[in-house]
Amino acid sequence: MGKIQLTQVRKSFGDVDVIPGIDLSIEDGEFVVFVGPSGCGKSTLLRLIAGLEDTTSGTIAIDGKDATNLPPAKRGLAMVFQSYALYPHMSVRKNIAFPLKMAGMPDSEQAARVERAAKVLNLTSYLDRRPGQLSGGQRQRVAIGRAIVREPSAFLFDEPLSNLDAALRVGMRQEITELHQSLKTTMIYVTHDQVEAMTMADKIVVLNGGRIEQVGSPMELYHHPRTEFVAGFIGAPSMNFLDIRSDGGRIACGETVIGTAAPVPGAVRLGIRPEHVGIMAPGAGELGGKVVLRETLGGDAYLYVRTAAGQLVVRAEGDTALNHGAEVGLSFPANRLHLFGADGVTLSSGGKAA
Ligand code: ADP
Ligand code: MG
Repeated sequence: MGKIQLTQVRKSFGDVDVIPGIDLSIEDGEFVVFVGPSGCGKSTLLRLIAGLEDTTSGTIAIDGKDATNLPPAKRGLAMVFQSYALYPHMSVRKNIAFPLKMAGMPDSEQAARVERAAKVLNLTSYLDRRPGQLSGGQRQRVAIGRAIVREPSAFLFDEPLSNLDAALRVGMRQEITELHQSLKTTMIYVTHDQVEAMTMADKIVVLNGGRIEQVGSPMELYHHPRTEFVAGFIGAPSMNFLDIRSDGGRIACGETVIGTAAPVPGAVRLGIRPEHVGIMAPGAGELGGKVVLRETLGGDAYLYVRTAAGQLVVRAEGDTALNHGAEVGLSFPANRLHLFGADGVTLSSGGKAA
């Protein structure tokens, strides 16, 4: 079991309110990702759940029982850190068994659990090596092994892949996802990287300034961001934002009418993702512009298009003939438009009121 319930959890350091009050339910077996910019309180929230920090107020329940004042060791959770701090003089086997040895578990049970964890993590043939004889990814797996053998009701990961190079990160992302699929144990995973959040999570919790901006599945956040912050944070490259005016029916940038989706009159912000802007011949579409930069990635190319309403990033085919200096027309499909009020709250997404 690994159901975790936070009720009005607050944390301040001195007179700084880092977490002003959070309500959150994590279901048994879920893969939940806390994502947000650096300093938004992700690690603090995870450490509160782990019991490494005391709450200022509020309650944390684990599997229905109040755990707010339980010491970390009594919560049945296992934490995996970014710096994996293995003992360099011990073998992989001894490193993985370490928490069990500390708990006084009989040797035979220790050995059985280490074998099982090593099998899940593909570390069986490395058990007699020392950490210094392993790659970065293998060391990270040993650190995860040390958590698995405790058979926790939930795993807590704090940016476990940040120290790895890009290729290894992709591989470890897959391994942790597969680990979750085979163990089916609750995992809470902290990252500042929205790609990790999108690719790994069942449920994403977007944090900003210690508050929850939105909780939802990756595609819910992608299609129906509740705020401009979430809209800009989820998806890469970021959503384009333009300042526009609405007369209650039509929306326009200056003299250019872009669409008819606005529910309220006044100044609003229009959002559209790079992959949703249509590229047309010059003169066609809603807005004309000039390509000022092209970034070719292979399958895709990103065109930076300067328009009267501001610069937009537009996704094109990697082998598009459009280059620096090309004139284009841009179209804005109504079902792809997002509108945000002056307070940053979504007014409509895909033509439907939020
Ligand atoms: P994140 O993990 O999202 O980058 P943290 O949870 O580490 O953010 O930090 C959130 C905020 O709390 C930051 O402003 C940080 O400076 C502050 N903070 C974290 N730990 C402490 C502490 N022990 N004392 C004072 N301030 C802290
Ligand atoms: Mg952190």
